[in-house]
Order: sequence, then structure tokens, then C-alpha cells
Amino acid sequence: MDQNLIEELNKSISGDVYTDDETLTTYSHDASLFEVKPQVVVFPKDDSDVVKLVKFVAMHKKDHPELSLTGRAAGTDMGGGSINDSISVAFGKYFNRMPTIHGNIASVQPGVFYRDFEKETLKQNLIFPSYPASRELCAMGGIVNNNSGGEKSLRYGKTERYVRKVKVVLADGSVAELRPLNKEELEEKMKLKTLEGEIYRKMHKLITENYDLLQKAKPHVSKNSAGYFLWNVYDKETGIFDLTKLWVGAQGTLGLLLEADIELVPTNHHREMEIIFLKDLSHLGLIIDAVLPLKPESFESYDDNTLSLSLRFFPEFAQKLGIMGLLLSGIAFLPAFLQLLTGHLPKLILQVDFTGNDPDELKQKIAKLREKLKPLHPTTKIAIDDKEKQYWLIRRESFNLLRNKIRNKHTAPFIDDFVIDPHLMGEVVPQITRILKRHPQFIFTVAGHVGDGNFHIIPLVDIKNKKVREAIPVISDQVYKIIHKYHGSITGEHNDGLIRTPYLREMYGPDIVHLFEKTKEIFDPQSIFNPRKKVHGSLQYAMDHIRTNWNFINTNVK
Ligand SMILES: Cc1cc2nc3c(=O)[nH]c(=O)nc-3n(C[C@H](O)[C@H](O)[C@H](O)COP(=O)(O)OP(=O)(O)OC[C@H]3O[C@@H](n4cnc5c(N)ncnc54)[C@H](O)[C@@H]3O)c2cc1C
Repeated sequence: MDQNLIEELNKSISGDVYTDDETLTTYSHDASLFEVKPQVVVFPKDDSDVVKLVKFVAMHKKDHPELSLTGRAAGTDMGGGSINDSISVAFGKYFNRMPTIHGNIASVQPGVFYRDFEKETLKQNLIFPSYPASRELCAMGGIVNNNSGGEKSLRYGKTERYVRKVKVVLADGSVAELRPLNKEELEEKMKLKTLEGEIYRKMHKLITENYDLLQKAKPHVSKNSAGYFLWNVYDKETGIFDLTKLWVGAQGTLGLLLEADIELVPTNHHREMEIIFLKDLSHLGLIIDAVLPLKPESFESYDDNTLSLSLRFFPEFAQKLGIMGLLLSGIAFLPAFLQLLTGHLPKLILQVDFTGNDPDELKQKIAKLREKLKPLHPTTKIAIDDKEKQYWLIRRESFNLLRNKIRNKHTAPFIDDFVIDPHLMGEVVPQITRILKRHPQFIFTVAGHVGDGNFHIIPLVDIKNKKVREAIPVISDQVYKIIHKYHGSITGEHNDGLIRTPYLREMYGPDIVHLFEKTKEIFDPQSIFNPRKKVHGSLQYAMDHIRTNWNFINTNVK
């Protein structure tokens, strides 16, 4: 970026502007496969800084078309969503005021880490139930802009269900509050002679004129973060028009987020867990049908590969639990060790978690589940109190452990988050693992939210190996063809970023992608915000930016 421009930018805002190599290198990574170096990293101090930044880029865009702004919270995005080659707008340093909580609504800034946010909500016995597995690392800006989900999404749904209002900066630098509007409120908004008014007029037209097409395009899966969720904006029955439904999950491609109002739910005091070990996947559909009507809070799974690698690195793994934990987990996993030695590890481990405020009701649910499972004869095992931690630990920590333990191999998220009808798992997952097995350079495990049909396959690879790099687009093409054939979604939680945007055309077809492009044009006519994400993606660009060296997540606040 031109030195004069950098100086002008520096003078126009009160926050920090960095161009040193160390900062640029840090911010050229997120938790994805990619490396894209920004020209400048800006830490805006307050709302007016963000406004000035947007106005600065809007004003210079014509003469400097390469200028753009990419918002960043904690930088744990797995698809390259938070990296870009122009200006990285990092919210972690100054936008981290503790949330204010009124009733069950928390107002929160984008740079607040989830772990800090939760501490505050728990003081009121409230929780945001759609926190992701990266809960210790990520921040609220990323959760909202990715439409994140997690282990509790089976019962509670995803972030989109909880965002009541967002305060945002639009492409001309104006600040707007997006929230659900009734007919009269929408009419008032459409009369405005501002960019906000124009957005309402044009989005209303686009959505109402294409209403049936959009409703048909809505993916029939339990959770989805792919594309723009245009089908959720207008409810014909209630007349409510709600642009937060579009904003959440749009990856900062429509503007920058300053604050979000998020609904919280009461915490549950009691928990019971059932562990089901499956020798093969043949009864999986029936087991899912037995589990789901009992309304568990979460229904998670991991495969024999995950268990076997976790057992291989058992001491490191159990360290997380302390000495007592080590002892307890030693006892808990003894049968698994024996199965490992005799080559009889279960094919799949399922965890069903019931929560509530009445312990008797939970016990009844477990009893009912066991009764239902009896005819299927899976080996079932109940885990209560301390012992349950061992199983949760594998599901939660296996990814981190493998990443740190397997030498010269790194996590390569590129088919990391697909969603299908959970009943199809037994049919679809083996097809996908067969594709991976054709590439011996890829070590992989399968884990996921089985109740939602959402699976995380994140291979470990030596990224310097040319064969590995060449195989990534080949495997992606083959896997996403299968997902498409089974009417799934290419991403349930992690969102599109650089890696999946090129596959949106295959998932939704050209007419819907055209509406995505129109949406982007309406909000961001000069293409200021987070280019190549959601629209106009390029697989070649992504492949050209696969990183060559690897320090996993070293992001964040300076
Ligand atoms: C180990 C691990 C496990 C994970 N598990 C899950 C999981 O279970 N579920 C899940 O959903 N995800 C998961 N993720 C992915 C990621 O952690 C989440 O999506 C998380 O919510 C991103 O938060 P962040 O603060 O790191 O966002 P960032 O990476 O900083 O940003 C994410 C996106 O939001 C945009 N953005 C951020 N702030 C703003 C802003 N103020 N204005 C506009 N745009 C903005 C960015 O441009 C980017 O597109 C996981 C990642 C890792 C590394």
C-alpha cells in the first residue's frame, strides 16, 4: 500500500496502525490452510475509528481498487475467512469491553473472547448455547460473523437464533442498527434517503421477487453456514423482515460489526451421559431415531482412528485431568486399551448428553434410551460425574493433541465441516473416507455432531509435500460432489472463507449464486469488505495461498 496512503490513514484514526513485518506475518494467518499477507493491520480504538476507516477506503477505492477491509476478532477461522491482502481490521485490542446484560440479552463487542463473555453470563446463570469447540480461543465477532455452532446446537440451534440486533458500519461509513422489522417499520426504513434505506428497498425487492426460488434453495440440513441465508430474511406469515438473519454468518462481507445483542438461555444444573460403542455402522440410523426423540442436549461422535490415536498419546492426553484424572481415566480407558491390543476397537463412539433441572427425569431418559437400544445390541456404557470427562476430553481435545503430537504434519481443514441428513451417515461417511484412503499422505480422523449430521474431517498432512498440495483440490472436488448428491451442505459451522466459496455454485446453482452476488452489490457496491469470501471466490487463488510454514494460531491482540 502506498506510503502516503498509510500516513493519511494513520492521521485519520486514533487507533493503532502497524506495517512492521512481524505484525503483518502474524495477521497473515488464521486457523486455515492459507497465508495471505495484509499490507496494514489496524486496531481501531472506537466506533468512530471504524467509521473513518470505511470512509477512507470508500473515498480511495476508485484510485486504489486493491484497497479492502477484513474484520478480525480472534483469527481462528478455519477457511481463511479472516485473512486478506489489504487492511486487516483487528477488533481484539480495543473492542473488548465486558458485556452489559439486561434480562436475558447481552450487548457485546466483537473483540470479547467467548471465555470472558461466558464468565459474565454465568454470573447470571445464563449462557449463550451456540459456543463453538474453539470456545477458549475465539471471540464474539467471529461467532456472529461465522454463524458458529457447537456441541449444544442440536437442542439450541446456531448463533443466528440468538442474535437480536447488530450495530454495523455500512459501505459508506454510516452506522446502522439491524433488527427484525414489522411492516410499518420496514416501510419507514425504505423511505430513508440513505444507503441503509437503499439496502432495505433493494433487498426487499430481491427477496420478495425471488421468494419461492429462495425457499426452494434453503438447504434441508440441521445447520448451515454456506452462502448468504436470504431465505430466512422475510417471514411471509408474520410480515417480519429481519436483516440480522442475513448479516449473521456473512463473514464481514457486508460491513463491519461494532456490537451485537445476543439472547442468552438459563443454564441447566444436571447432566447425564450415555456412551454407545458401535462395532459397525449398520444400525446407526436406528440408533439416531432412538436418541433424537429424547431431546438430548448434544449427540456427538468420534471414530476408531480418533480413539486409537488418543490411546497412543494417552499420558499427554490425561495430563489435562491432573493426577486423579490420570488414574480415573486409566481405569475408564482400560477396556479400550485391551480392545486396541486385540484389534477390536469399536468403529464409532457415540456420546449422548442429557441436561435439565430434574435429575430423576434425566435418569428416566437414560433408562428409556437403554430400553430402546436393547434390540440393537450395541455395547452401551453409562458415564457419570468424573468419568464422563474422559470421553468429553477425547471429543474436545483429540484435534489439538494430534496437531501437536504428530511430527511434521499439520492440520489441513478443507473438507472439515460438511452436513448431511444424519441417517445417511452410514452410507456417506465411508464413501468420503475411501477417497481419503487413496491418498496415504493424509492421516485423518472423523469426529462430529452426529445428531446434526455435521462431521469434521481435518487431515494431518505434510503441507510441503507437492503431492499433498495437489491432492487438496482433487479431494475437495470429489467430497463436495458426494455432499451435493446427498443434498447436504458444504459447511455447517465453519463457513465458506477462501476454501469453500468456490463450491457455492455447485451447492446452490447459478441462479442463487447470482442472487448472492446481487446481495453483495447492494450492500457493498465498491467491494470494500472481505473480498473473495461468499462471492467471486477462486479455487486457484486459494491454492496459490496455501501456507508453506506453520505456527498454528499465533493471532490476536498486539
Ligand atoms: C480447534 C478449533 C475448533 C473449532 N470449532 C468450531 C466449532 O465447533 N464451531 C464453529 O462454528 N467453528 C469452529 N471453529 C472455527 C472458529 O473458531 C469459529 O468459527 C469462531 O467463532 C471464529 O471466531 P474468531 O473470533 O476466531 O473469528 P475470526 O477468525 O477472527 O473471524 C471469523 C470471520 O468473522 C469475520 N469478522 C470477525 N470480526 C468481525 C467484525 N467485527 N466485523 C466484520 N466481520 C468480522 C472475519 O472477517 C471472518 O470472516 C473452530 C476452530 C478451531 C481452530
